[in-house]
Amino acid sequence: MKGQLMHHEPMSRHTSWRAGGCAEKCYRPADLDDFSAFLKSLPEKEPVEVIGLGSNLLVRDGGIRGTVILMHKVLDRLEMDGARIHAQAGVACAKVARFSAQRGWRGSEFLAGIPGTVGGALAMNAGCYGGETWNIVEKVEAIGRDGQVRVRYPEEYEIGYRTVSGPREEWFVSAWFRLERGEGGMDVIKSLLKKRIASQPLEFPNAGSVFRNPEGDHAARLIESCGLKGKQIGGAMVSDKHANFIVNTGNACASDIERLIELVRDTVMKEKGIRLEREVRIIGEAA
Ligand SMILES: Cc1cc2nc3c(=O)[nH]c(=O)nc-3n(C[C@H](O)[C@H](O)[C@H](O)COP(=O)(O)OP(=O)(O)OC[C@H]3O[C@@H](n4cnc5c(N)ncnc54)[C@H](O)[C@@H]3O)c2cc1C
Repeated sequence: MKGQLMHHEPMSRHTSWRAGGCAEKCYRPADLDDFSAFLKSLPEKEPVEVIGLGSNLLVRDGGIRGTVILMHKVLDRLEMDGARIHAQAGVACAKVARFSAQRGWRGSEFLAGIPGTVGGALAMNAGCYGGETWNIVEKVEAIGRDGQVRVRYPEEYEIGYRTVSGPREEWFVSAWFRLERGEGGMDVIKSLLKKRIASQPLEFPNAGSVFRNPEGDHAARLIESCGLKGKQIGGAMVSDKHANFIVNTGNACASDIERLIELVRDTVMKEKGIRLEREVRIIGEAA
């Protein structure tokens, strides 16, 4: 293996909440061939989690049994392929947005404000301000547990609002984005980023919107109208800037965050009769 293998690696280093337990093993592949060889070498029953920038992820305090594979900056090729943008899974979304806009392509500006990787955006169908990842995907490459890379098309996945399901035990390694010719992308990016800075508590570790917006409403509005802004459990707090964000005020453990998520969900259910669905993913074992 040419990559880097770590034991008992704190996941707080690899998640934007900066909280949570350790991964038993953590592997940063050197490149795609190495990723493939590593997958092939794993025991059949070894649990595998692939993570990008950990910006939508809570790892419980007891950590992760099995192997975590780190993607950010590993598969990091970004290039033009004819009239399409080809981006590998470890490239930051913001880089794709800037790369495209600077070359006179429009349609990926929304990616500028998503602090994750291309792989994470494909897995979550990340989106904002009217844009959604899979609306601009022409095709992807995915790697299976057997180390084989396959080209797949959108019709092979079930794609919804912040959900994507496809073949089990397969992970994205790259995507081709189909964009339109047009100038002005950088101005759009600048104004989107300005809006984010004004409305999101970016000064504290967080994982973006905790809950999906229910049909016809906004999770933030519901949470705020239950008086939950500023509510705190341990070091976790419902942001007083954006009620759908839970921030780590400094020393939150994952269980503080998870308990606060449950408290918000239960309060909104009791007071408004609406069950909020989580957007952030929770993995690992309780301490
Ligand atoms: C400040 C802030 C603002 C945000 N704003 C938005 C927003 O506007 N819109 C939005 O949609 N999201 C938003 N998010 C959430 C998050 O950035 C997105 O969900 C993003 O797509 C996650 O990418 P990631 O690389 O960090 O994925 P991770 O958090 O590392 O992983 C998320 C999930 O994707 C899976 N995954 C990661 N990489 C791969 C891969 N290569 N193949 C298969 N599965 C993979 C992981 O296993 C995990 O289940 C925000 C987060 C923050 C912190």
